[in-house]
Amino acid sequence: MSYVRRPQFLPFTRPMVGQEEIAEIIDTIHSGWITTGPKSAKFEEALQDYNGVPHCLVMNSATTAQEITLQVLGLQPGDEVITTSLTWVSTLSTIVLQGGVPVLVDIDPKTLNLDPAKLEAAITPRTKGIIPVHLTGLPCPMEAIWAVAEKHGLWVIEDAAQAMGASYKSTKIGGDPRSVMSVYSFHPNKNMTTGEGGAIAFFDDAFESRIKRLRFHGIDRDAWKRFAKEGSPHTEVYEPARKANFMDLQAAIGIHQIPKLDGFNARRGVLFHRYLDLLKDVEELMLPWAGDADHGHCFHLFVARLHPEKAGLDRDAFVAALKEENIGTGIHYRPAHVHPWYRDFYAANPSHLPKEGLPHTDWSGERLMSLPLWPGLTEADQDQTVDAIKHVLAKARATHRVVR
Ligand SMILES: *Cc1c(COP(=O)(O)O)cnc(C)c1O
Repeated sequence: MSYVRRPQFLPFTRPMVGQEEIAEIIDTIHSGWITTGPKSAKFEEALQDYNGVPHCLVMNSATTAQEITLQVLGLQPGDEVITTSLTWVSTLSTIVLQGGVPVLVDIDPKTLNLDPAKLEAAITPRTKGIIPVHLTGLPCPMEAIWAVAEKHGLWVIEDAAQAMGASYKSTKIGGDPRSVMSVYSFHPNKNMTTGEGGAIAFFDDAFESRIKRLRFHGIDRDAWKRFAKEGSPHTEVYEPARKANFMDLQAAIGIHQIPKLDGFNARRGVLFHRYLDLLKDVEELMLPWAGDADHGHCFHLFVARLHPEKAGLDRDAFVAALKEENIGTGIHYRPAHVHPWYRDFYAANPSHLPKEGLPHTDWSGERLMSLPLWPGLTEADQDQTVDAIKHVLAKARATHRVVR
């Protein structure tokens, strides 16, 4: 069958917001209470139940949630935190904004997640903690990370922005107390959304009032109730803090996303495995690992890596050619240490990178792309994506006369 270009552009992801969410938003508006209130509290309870954690507090984004976790743990200027460069920059920026130093270790090329075997070499007397990132929704090998953390007296905060619904050894991500806190994101590209939004999951009761203060003007106990009949109009401010509260308008969406999440992720899994099958003979592409019983993937992203030497064109030319075929892709991510500010920072502070650099991060960072994947993607959309990939590669082969 000859190739036909798809007539309309296919984005790499779309949020799944249905009639239940829309009806709840309208109900919220009619209720007269649209910012932080009873629906936000209900959403927090639903998150606790889903993830099996005693506390889960919501706020405006995962980026703010990351900032707050570091503030709660008292990160001091010059304190070092070990993490990965293959993440959204907020993982590093929140450390820097708190005065800390992000110390980078390389990834395991099989998983794209930080390689726990590299952690010990990065530890110094100033190291305070480790932030593993469950990139693509594939859980990190947490046992090995917790073992290093325990041996050296470090905390672990999980960047679970991409991991709602993923599990490690049958426990939901965020649900193991060996990590002091975990952070989720509800940005529209993630596996479930609230428009924008983030949350911190934690076990220690002592953090609760501090996190509430830090997300809303330094006021703790349910500040929103001061305007309700049962509340007191008086407030007490315990410290200067940001305004990063979550709206009931956002909770209206989230309340209906949680019951749908496992279904969303199951559908993502079907499509993920279907890509593995449809692309298995495309030797120009390196396909992602699907996880196993210990690493319960939530299939946030399908990240393929292009071998430019086999394809005769590089990743950027390849994704531009796919765009011409009306197929959208994402790049998750350009490694953080390659962005101008961080490039200068690590050039001036080379001891915060491994002596050998980050060869696996660099290698994958130049080759990776996220193919279209969301629960509403149809098999026809997916077939068109695969056909477009094969078409672009065949054209490149003809043009560049690749020697095999
Ligand atoms: C999306 C994302 C974030 C930031 O989440 P926001 O809610 O947009 O602030 C942080 N880390 C990773 C790995 C992400 O994918």
